Amino acid sequence: MLKKRISTFLKLQAQTNENPYLIDVEKAEGIYIWGKNGRKYMDMIAGVAVNNIGHRHPAVIKAIKEQLDKHLHVMVYGEYIQDSELALAENLASILPESLSCSYIVNSGTEANEAAIKLAKRFTGRQELISCKNSYHGSTHGSLSVTGNDEKQSSFKPLLPNIQFIEFNNIKTLSLITEKTACVIMETIQGDAGLIKPTPEFITTLREKCTQTGTLLIFDEVQVGMGRTGKMFAFEHYQVIPDILTLGKALGGGMSIGAFISSYNIMHTLTHHPMLGHITTFGGHPINCAAANACINVLKQENWIAEADQKGQLLEDILSKSSQVKEIRRIGLFLAIELGSFEKVKQVVEKCLDKGLIGFWFLSTPTAFRLSPPLSITEKEIRKAGEIVLSCL
Ligand code: PLP
Repeated sequence: MLKKRISTFLKLQAQTNENPYLIDVEKAEGIYIWGKNGRKYMDMIAGVAVNNIGHRHPAVIKAIKEQLDKHLHVMVYGEYIQDSELALAENLASILPESLSCSYIVNSGTEANEAAIKLAKRFTGRQELISCKNSYHGSTHGSLSVTGNDEKQSSFKPLLPNIQFIEFNNIKTLSLITEKTACVIMETIQGDAGLIKPTPEFITTLREKCTQTGTLLIFDEVQVGMGRTGKMFAFEHYQVIPDILTLGKALGGGMSIGAFISSYNIMHTLTHHPMLGHITTFGGHPINCAAANACINVLKQENWIAEADQKGQLLEDILSKSSQVKEIRRIGLFLAIELGSFEKVKQVVEKCLDKGLIGFWFLSTPTAFRLSPPLSITEKEIRKAGEIVLSCL
């Protein structure tokens, strides 16, 4: 029976990974996923930075059920006034600076980045784009074009033209930003590059250079937003505000969503030349907005964001005891554990899975693995998870 399910899964569901995890999911709650094999797994990656408030948070489930009883999709994005969409816009504005008070809810992180790049081109009237080496911004053509990873790009060329890649944290390369640059798009903290933080000097100089040249600065916080780093938004660690912010993943509390957010002035260039500068049928879907709204409220009410650094430190301290660990890069509850070789990473991740703990790779850093558990994880659970990973190391 199980063999048949696996073979159906592998044959009828398109695969992009040669070695999928193959956990046959029965249910998920809090930081746990149960398999149909009766096993209980600690989800120490939160569906890759999605379930920041845990799986099936009761507030999210309640909001979804209430919205279900009112209406589902009624119209393409932006035509009708819908309670949950409007409430989400207000909620986002309440946690963001004044200059980021106008939001457009889309379907995914990659769409948010596509739209942000279009917005920057439209607002500035410029064509040149700058991104960072080793970045990841999504898998659709535009986002892939600004993803600084030649291997991921090479089979899909030609991609967007007029893109230059600067080195993350190399101030000298900021001279490439000129009056011709429409935008610089950057992950505030590089995630799939194996968790690389910007130096305060780099990010401050980048902001200054963008302001001087009239270039829009886009921060992609699809992975590091919504409390993951110990602040609601990662840019709050640096007192640097982008012109456009993109979100996704954890914003939806487990539902599919993305958002690009800017000022009223910048955003409203999408209403003319051409009209409908970005359109999407399912953008601002009422169920997803209701879930996102509930998710933000949970993050506001709980103390989890404030505790993320302390919990992350505890996990770091436990894992640091292993002589196999070469380095731990961490911010809040996002950890990259550097082992120096892919073979070791593979062994440890597989052993962890055997012991009922889910860790995961990085897209472009084979020598490290990630842990990014739900922020709702308790100290006791962190200790338990830490000991499991330590034993596998
Ligand atoms: N940007 C970053 C930084 C990401 O980590 C991801 C996904 O991992 C994306 C964009 C793309 O988001 P999505 O997979 O929702 O399209």
